[in-house]
Amino acid sequence: MSNPIRKFQIGAVQVDLVVESSGPLLHPAEIFPDSDPHTIARQGDWLSSRLYDPASDRLVICMQSFLLRSAGKIILVDTCVGDCKQRVRPEFDEARWNWLDRLAQAGVAPEQVDIVLSTHLHVDHIGWNTHWADGRWVPTFLNARYLFVDKEYEYWSNEAGRSALQRTGDYVEDSVRPIFEAGLAEVVGVGHQIDGSLRLLHAPGHTPGHVCIEISSEGQNAIITGDLMHHPLQCRFPGWSTRFCFDAGQSRKTRLAFMAEHAGRGTLLFPAHFPDPTAGYLRAVDDKDEPHYRYEFVQD
Ligand SMILES: [Zn+2]
Repeated sequence: MSNPIRKFQIGAVQVDLVVESSGPLLHPAEIFPDSDPHTIARQGDWLSSRLYDPASDRLVICMQSFLLRSAGKIILVDTCVGDCKQRVRPEFDEARWNWLDRLAQAGVAPEQVDIVLSTHLHVDHIGWNTHWADGRWVPTFLNARYLFVDKEYEYWSNEAGRSALQRTGDYVEDSVRPIFEAGLAEVVGVGHQIDGSLRLLHAPGHTPGHVCIEISSEGQNAIITGDLMHHPLQCRFPGWSTRFCFDAGQSRKTRLAFMAEHAGRGTLLFPAHFPDPTAGYLRAVDDKDEPHYRYEFVQD
């Protein structure tokens, strides 16, 4: 039997974590150019087996969607890697994770989803937008409006974005274009308000139109942070951007400002790729030589 779905309540908003996969995936140097083996080895106990597998020298990375129930609507944030898609990364290529079964376990059928939104248009955040049926890629959530952030969609449609896709494999073609062709897409601004409790926050750098989703309800606050940070190592080393960042300098600036704003303020964070239980709080660590942060996962 698979693990139960992890659920959180933020005021009147329910957040379910719908996991597609979780395990050792990326070598530290493969994602963080500023890392080195000595620094990783020096981290000690906090970098536990839940976060890093020393045997394979790989960081544990989770792929998941955030299923929100808010104001009578069902909203899906990020749609993972997807099944059956031809991808450059072997772990993603022609995958069969059966994430729809996991969605069903959360009590939701695809046709019940009202809104689909991606924090950004990278391969691991748009996969289940579509699925293969009758010889083509078709929208998975037929009754949903799919929201695309204008700055993000425009980037991946322009020459720079198109040429990046030529190098990495054109996942926009199979997972974004069919949504527009089906008439289910809606382009929104970076500060779009979804309802009285949910709004987008522009957090550029990882990609130009990357957004976080702020949840504010009945005096409680949480933020789905997308790929603002990928691993708790970026709390210990907040200056580390990833190789996958469109603009590493802007990514660093956005992350540092975000961390300074939210550390110690009681904002519950949901970073896209942090392993179970994902949610946690940022604390500033008083280190005069090297100010940094600690990520405190919520207790099981
Ligand atoms: Zn990602």
